[in-house]
Amino acid sequence: MMTDIEIADQAKMQPITEIAAKIGLSEDEIEQYGKYKAKITLPVTAHPDKKHKLVLVTSINPTPAGEGKSTVLVGLGDAMNQLGHQTIIAMREPSMGPVFGIKGGATGGGYSQVVPMEDINLHFTGDLHALTSANNTLAALVDNYIMRDNQLGLDPRRIIWKRVEDVNDRVLRNVVTGLGGIMQGVPRQTGFDITAASEMMAILCLSTDLMDLKRRVGKIVVGYTYDKQPVTVAQLHFEDAITILLKDAIKPNLVQTLDHTPTIIHGGPFANIAHGCNSVLATKTALQLADYTVTESGFGADLGAEKFMDIKRRVLGKNPDAVVIVATVRALEYNGGAELADLKEEHLPELKKGMANLNRHIKNMQRYGVPLVVAINHFVTDTDAEVQMIADNCRQLGVNVVTADAWAKGGAGTQDLAREVVSLTEQKSDFHELYSLDASPAEKVETVATKIYGAQDVEFSRKAQRQLKQFADLGWDKLPVCIAKTQYSFTDDQTQLGAPSDFTFHIREFVPKLGAGFIVALAGNMMTMPGLSKVPAAVNMTIDKDGKITGLF
Ligand code: ADP
Repeated sequence: MMTDIEIADQAKMQPITEIAAKIGLSEDEIEQYGKYKAKITLPVTAHPDKKHKLVLVTSINPTPAGEGKSTVLVGLGDAMNQLGHQTIIAMREPSMGPVFGIKGGATGGGYSQVVPMEDINLHFTGDLHALTSANNTLAALVDNYIMRDNQLGLDPRRIIWKRVEDVNDRVLRNVVTGLGGIMQGVPRQTGFDITAASEMMAILCLSTDLMDLKRRVGKIVVGYTYDKQPVTVAQLHFEDAITILLKDAIKPNLVQTLDHTPTIIHGGPFANIAHGCNSVLATKTALQLADYTVTESGFGADLGAEKFMDIKRRVLGKNPDAVVIVATVRALEYNGGAELADLKEEHLPELKKGMANLNRHIKNMQRYGVPLVVAINHFVTDTDAEVQMIADNCRQLGVNVVTADAWAKGGAGTQDLAREVVSLTEQKSDFHELYSLDASPAEKVETVATKIYGAQDVEFSRKAQRQLKQFADLGWDKLPVCIAKTQYSFTDDQTQLGAPSDFTFHIREFVPKLGAGFIVALAGNMMTMPGLSKVPAAVNMTIDKDGKITGLF
């Protein structure tokens, strides 16, 4: 089997104008970025004769390599179209942090990929750079404001707006800026986050149009005054300048799969330290133009899918019609205690034990009342006994289960899943909200922690308790919560695999993100700037004189 990049290199792509035409967009309705990428001009007019069905792909708790959600998503989109169900895929933009760090690209794998793979995984149409520039322009404007008149009395010790970059760069987690004397600004301690975890990224993903984006930027709280009053971007009159920097980034990007399925890739927040869903505009555009929109949310269903249901869905104004939970033999065995290096072997006892992880995700998704199917993402190393054990487990629970061979066979290997998904979307769903926005932030965190994670209770640090009181006084307590938590565990401790229960979940701090429209709750020691591993993916990349690349996976 060839590597992902070798398969992608051999793809015969169709001109992007042809892909656009398939979904009813003329050349005037797209802005071309070369031959195979385009931005979609907004607003898009809805096609009233479409079915507008929405399918959400999520997964169990993954191994560090990922469990093939994107791969299954792409295979599913291809299979739906092959079977004559007009489908658009909507997914997230890769961040260069994981691409050069642990995980490699995020454009699917094997014969279920989105292309041009190298472009999408690297600079693509520049959205992440635009977001980084917008974020850092705001940071520079704030520091300049403090150095000049500082009429509002912004306290340099209480600035919460950080700089960002799209790199895993642990040395920038904590920095001191403004050193070197009077002309270099006011010294203060701050830090960098990764762009994918920034409020600017969340704003791009949750805005419904350019003016909504501007309104949201205006609501960003950059810090507090000496008498502890919050200061917003609108008070400083910077929102237009920042919005100008995002005027193109807000437009969704159109590309294609290896099988030429139209794919909208836009926005890329991580699901552990951010809200983990592609943009509302991308999903909405797909819904307007297709019978079926298949989309994903990051990491396991405890993170991405919960945030899809409780954050993105409220803005999108559309509940999913079906949910696909991707499970792999490997990750269930890992959750059951098998060693990471040893997952190619059969481990039936560990698989049995790890099944508790899948079963909790099933129960959690059933809580929302949306029809669901488990997709076993098939690896060549899976044995029949292993696959059978997962299938039997699901059938005992009365849950539909299908094996998907998206990686090895593309859409052809994913047609059974496609048929199941189409039939699920015909069923009546009875959506239930997990929590009401009227609940306090503490109650919202407690609901997610006890109902979704399986915690017994939640412990809020002294700082977090102080913040809860402050947020209530400021009237910020009616927003959803976005919990930043490890992707490997239901708990806040990444070594607790499987499906632990009766544990205490710890919140150390809250961060108000009023522009995004949620309150971030930082759990355990979760950090918003990742680091690189001992042997980052970057070490194994090559490029030759013709520009040919290897090692992007
Ligand atoms: P996720 O979206 O869950 O993070 P991806 O779809 O990005 O996962 O897949 C992660 C990696 O695993 C990719 O390099 C992909 O090629 C590989 N992969 C996914 N599914 C399979 C499979 N069934 N067999 C072999 N490799 C796979």
